[in-house]
Amino acid sequence: MTFELSERLKALPPYLFKELDRIRDEVKARGVDVIDLGVGDPDRPTPDYVIKSLQKAAEDADNHKYPVYSGMNAFLDVVAKWYKNRHGVTLNPKTEICSLIGSKEGIAQFPMAFINPGDLALIPEPSYPVYRSGTLFAGGQSYFLPLLEKNKFLPDLNTIPTDILGKAKLLWINYPNNPTGAPASSEFYASVVELAKKWNIIVASDAAYSEVTWLSTPHPSILEIPGAKEVAIEFHSLSKTFNMTGWRVGWAAGNETLVKGLGLVKSNVDSGVSQAIQIAGMSALEGPREPVIEMGRIYQRRREILVKALKSANLSVFETSHTFYVWLKVPVGLKSADFASKLLNEIGVVATPGNGFGPSGEGFARFALVQDDKRIKEAADRLASLKF
Ligand SMILES: *Cc1c(COP(=O)(O)O)cnc(C)c1O
Repeated sequence: MTFELSERLKALPPYLFKELDRIRDEVKARGVDVIDLGVGDPDRPTPDYVIKSLQKAAEDADNHKYPVYSGMNAFLDVVAKWYKNRHGVTLNPKTEICSLIGSKEGIAQFPMAFINPGDLALIPEPSYPVYRSGTLFAGGQSYFLPLLEKNKFLPDLNTIPTDILGKAKLLWINYPNNPTGAPASSEFYASVVELAKKWNIIVASDAAYSEVTWLSTPHPSILEIPGAKEVAIEFHSLSKTFNMTGWRVGWAAGNETLVKGLGLVKSNVDSGVSQAIQIAGMSALEGPREPVIEMGRIYQRRREILVKALKSANLSVFETSHTFYVWLKVPVGLKSADFASKLLNEIGVVATPGNGFGPSGEGFARFALVQDDKRIKEAADRLASLKF
């Protein structure tokens, strides 16, 4: 018997890290102590008070049932309160917020609600691959916006051709940015809202890293811009802020029609976030701010250790105070993939080649600062011994 994969699966771009995974396994098999700075998954545990809250919630039989699709009222209220305190944004918890089983889930499903076959989505690259795959699964077409270093990795909105703007249905943005670490300003968000209103385009803003910083002035939200709620939906996650990637909880917030459309797709696909997890998520959002600030300091310290070593190896690093990523230029004459395999083969350090996030990532590589200080120091010592 032969079973063919669907055309939509066959249309996905090839998995670029296959060769790198192979080399990593081979290097490990040689007995090398490999330091993995590849995947963006925090190494530190979830705060204690969040775990305690889940333990308690798990014992309550009320939480053993199907949750309400869009989220518990209490969870939606806490998210609304969080927006008010953190961003000064007023949201109606009943109509403008929807819980998600991690933000990836919402990001992947959202195009299904508003993209028809052949519709155009504007997608920056290098970027999180889910913007592309979600669009593809909905039958949409992607128009890529290169993120260039000379523009501080923001899309140059002025260079998008007007016929493309006329056809575009949806624009994805992601700041603080994965993989580059670049932040966005309120002015940038304002220009996005203006463009979206002019051309009748939905803005989907992925804010997964908004709390991962060591600045005292936190990163803005697009929803702070007057009128943003007419065009924008923001995807948020507890994963990176509270070291909760394995818990699967996040939310979408913003324009009522957009939130409702996403909710409609979801109610046909899943049955919401476990109530116990929502209750734990509430305790994270309502908990003390100190652990979040402390995480920022930890990433700052790790970044300083690694960046110093990269510079002494003559590598050029993009400066930022956001995310736990270090985005660097690979040496002239090397491709991203060559650089990553050189690092693995010669010093046993895993980095992600930039072209894995899109063609404009070629010539770059990404380190994720998700090992403890000692391991980062060890990676730094090994890197400093390399000369390019
Ligand atoms: C990690 C990440 C997410 C998704 O995180 P969830 O765990 O699904 O909430 C979304 N966007 C970007 C850019 C990410 O790096």
